[in-house]
Amino acid sequence: MEYGGLLNEALLRAQPYTARGKTATYIGELSKKDPSHLGIALCGPEGRMCSAGYSSEKFTMQSISKVVTLIAALEQNGAESVFSRVGMEPTGDAFNSMVRLDLLSGSRPFNPMINAGAIAVADCIRGNNVAERVALCLDFARKLTRNPSLSIDQAVLASEKATGYKNRAIVNLLESNGVVSGSPEEILELYFSMCSISADCRDLACLAAVLAGGGTDPFTGERLVRFDIVRLVRSLMVTCGMYDYSGEFASTVGIPSKSGVGGGIISAAIGKCGIAVYGPALDSHGNSVGGLKMLEYLSDEMDLNMF
Ligand code: GLN
Repeated sequence: MEYGGLLNEALLRAQPYTARGKTATYIGELSKKDPSHLGIALCGPEGRMCSAGYSSEKFTMQSISKVVTLIAALEQNGAESVFSRVGMEPTGDAFNSMVRLDLLSGSRPFNPMINAGAIAVADCIRGNNVAERVALCLDFARKLTRNPSLSIDQAVLASEKATGYKNRAIVNLLESNGVVSGSPEEILELYFSMCSISADCRDLACLAAVLAGGGTDPFTGERLVRFDIVRLVRSLMVTCGMYDYSGEFASTVGIPSKSGVGGGIISAAIGKCGIAVYGPALDSHGNSVGGLKMLEYLSDEMDLNMF
């Protein structure tokens, strides 16, 4: 079957599952999305882009942005410096959990794909002021999605700030543990801004294709990210990218992936293609229910399981 037929079939099969999930409500703006919507885009070799469903509906990157901020931090500071603040181990806990942070005084967050880890990574980004740091990371996202008009959804950003109680608690705990040293409010400004970047499946399929291809632009072949950084990030996506569902996802789908509570998931099928799925109805882990079903189907049909 051609890409187009496969994507449509994935969408059809996943549609009934959307009724099993719910949109995120703890960020008020996210609950306004239609939980029945599904979208998908695939960016193959030579930038061959194919999409189906609500693939041009905008949604916020949320935790998918953790990948972008991590790449920016690694490019700017190197792995040794970044991983002195954050580990590389999966937690098995929810993405916004802070239980383990308080177990040992001074303990680093487990990995950069959970909120605590991404907040520590945000503190690694250098710049003269917070606006400059946000601009640097947003530019990175624009480059990796090949979309120069990517922007921050101000309504979602305001909503995140209004109800980000747990993230505030996390940044304060990290500050008292000596893991971060910048102003907590500025660290959160960068973290929330990145979560609030608005994108569609086609933008994110391009980002996934950059990772799948080892760091080069799928359309032009230009190197955008160093290979050693891409390899590191892909490995963290496998072990930690789907929160406390990462193990089961590796077994059932087997593609380095990262999800966000906006309903998006990016999947980088190494050496093959980049996929982005969207469906705002989430399961109890915070992963898109319909998105997971589409990825299970495509992984099987296209033989994308890396294991
Ligand atoms: N902005 C969200 C939060 O901080 C991102 C979480 C997510 O996508 N899992 O809670």
